[in-house]
Amino acid sequence: MSPVRPTVHVIGRVGDRESYELRDFLTRIAQPHEFHEAGSPGAERLLKDAGAPHARLPAVIDGDVVHEGASVAGLASAWRIHDRPSRLHYDLAVVGAGPAGLAAAVYAASDGLSTIVFDRDVPGGQASHTSLIENFFGFPDGIGGAELARRAGRQAEKFGAELMLLSGVTGGGFDDGKVRLRSAGGDEITADVVLAAPGMEWRRLEIAGVDELLGRGVYYGAGRSEAVRCGGEDVAVVGAGNSAGQAVMHLANSGARVRMIVRGDGLAKSMSGYLVERIRHHPLIDVRLHSRVVELVAPDGHLEAVVVQSGAGTEQLPGRALFICIGGQPRTGWAADIGVATDAAGYLLTGPDLLDDGRRPAGWPLDRDPLVLETGIPGFFAAGDVRHGSTKRVGAAVGEGATAVALAHLRLAELAAGR
Ligand SMILES: Cc1cc2nc3c(=O)[nH]c(=O)nc-3n(C[C@H](O)[C@H](O)[C@H](O)COP(=O)(O)OP(=O)(O)OC[C@H]3O[C@@H](n4cnc5c(N)ncnc54)[C@H](O)[C@@H]3O)c2cc1C
Repeated sequence: MSPVRPTVHVIGRVGDRESYELRDFLTRIAQPHEFHEAGSPGAERLLKDAGAPHARLPAVIDGDVVHEGASVAGLASAWRIHDRPSRLHYDLAVVGAGPAGLAAAVYAASDGLSTIVFDRDVPGGQASHTSLIENFFGFPDGIGGAELARRAGRQAEKFGAELMLLSGVTGGGFDDGKVRLRSAGGDEITADVVLAAPGMEWRRLEIAGVDELLGRGVYYGAGRSEAVRCGGEDVAVVGAGNSAGQAVMHLANSGARVRMIVRGDGLAKSMSGYLVERIRHHPLIDVRLHSRVVELVAPDGHLEAVVVQSGAGTEQLPGRALFICIGGQPRTGWAADIGVATDAAGYLLTGPDLLDDGRRPAGWPLDRDPLVLETGIPGFFAAGDVRHGSTKRVGAAVGEGATAVALAHLRLAELAAGR
């Protein structure tokens, strides 16, 4: 990853999907940036000064360079964020650069293991969608998720780990006892030990129009780069977990009037007590229980209102933006294809979860039980939110990533001994 550069300027249209994707990307890699509405005096001046008064939009001005018709893929390539592996074989390959994968990369590389990390997105995982993690050990004033990821990524690279970003693992197999992984970027490597840390992805809201309006009024997660633009506006948030609670607080603290749409009969079962209290006392937050969004109103292609159904009937509520925070599901199709066992929901089974009345899983080749974070394939570990029964916390993911490295050393010693 390149180090953070001086502030870049994005010129585009509010409500335009490409502009939103650029702002979201820059926010999540913690790159300072300013957005200027196309046609505004500031935007015209910047483009004129950069010598590109008629640049194709969206445009990104990075010092002397103007990226016309800019896209996330184009910027990532220009800034060399997407790299290529430097070797064919690694001691450890990590799938996912969220807190679990990044922690593993820091500890493995600092222990001298050749380490490669793939992520289909930018580093940070779910944490990169969080404006402020308030309960992570050692940060009494909180730390932004993107900032935490940037620091961890830099630390991993400092020790020699290679980060392959915007290049997810799509499948793999086995070569001579080594695991082979294939990435969407077209790379193929083998590794003695693999750590699966692909976390979770947002559960989709199944109502008409969501996909068409993504980035144009509808956002999965807290839509952090969008939230700052919602001051004084009516917005809605769907969900009742901690991520929904954080999104609601962030929006209301930015001055938005927030309606929180909750299916159940309260927040206490699914949300941390401190958030429930803050939401209850915030004057700009209106919690609608026993309610669900059934329709989106967007007459000219931009969200204007949401239709909510509750026991009292249906009601149209004004809303310039809808943030969907209804939890996640694991991303493990590629691991299941390699033969890693999952539970019914797709979470990876590890250690004691694989034992059936004390019996080892079918096909297990070693004369020991699977280690605590080990899947049914020796040397193939899982850490963080993707693991069956995991604690869905940044601290827990980091701890498991670090533990997986200690276990990787045990497996490498077995391999060296021919087991
Ligand atoms: C909005 C929000 C707020 C939160 N706030 C807090 C908080 O305040 N405190 C707290 O403790 N926890 C919080 N959490 C939970 C916390 O962020 C997660 O528990 C933590 O990020 C899990 O880390 P992880 O590394 O296991 O997975 P993730 O963070 O999900 O990271 C997984 C990474 O793997 C990548 N990936 C997925 N599939 C592939 C593939 N096939 N190939 C390559 N890469 C892949 C993803 O792109 C992602 O970067 C919050 C979560 C959300 C969504």
